[in-house]
Amino acid sequence: MSLERYRQKRSFDRTPEPPGTKGARRGIFVVQKHKASRLHYDFRLEVEGVLVSWAVPKGPSMNPKERHLAVQVEDHPLEYADFEGEIPEGNYGAGTVEIWDRGFFLPRGNAKEGIIRGRLEFVLLGEKLKGGFALIRLRDQTKNWLLIKMNDPYADSIWRIEGQGED
Ligand code: MN
Repeated sequence: MSLERYRQKRSFDRTPEPPGTKGARRGIFVVQKHKASRLHYDFRLEVEGVLVSWAVPKGPSMNPKERHLAVQVEDHPLEYADFEGEIPEGNYGAGTVEIWDRGFFLPRGNAKEGIIRGRLEFVLLGEKLKGGFALIRLRDQTKNWLLIKMNDPYADSIWRIEGQGED
């Protein structure tokens, strides 16, 4: 877990995103709606002092029958959980970022080991996302995972992400 790649990609004198300083909040998640060249949702879980991050083109779902691709990207600093705003044109990820959901993240077992193993189960306590979820890495692919809602009382078979397909 390191912020080296995150920092390499950005010029912090030209983007309002945080450079990242060490801190600990313990157990948060955030989902940021990112209107970049392609709309996607950045799904971030706090693990060992950084936000381990996936870009989810279709966004998370509360429907256990949907398995949405989640492409792992570089770890982000914890302060990124509060970031909203405009990343200026010409910078990595240029476009608007807004917080779509956030709350607490409770891993089942050790989260870092789950990420290395390619299977992470966890509970989210957010405004929109609640209950059990799993991230499962596709075989032989290091970056491609599936984000899946577990079947539990929070599951919703007619759930739709707002604005999907509109922007
Ligand atoms: Mn993004």
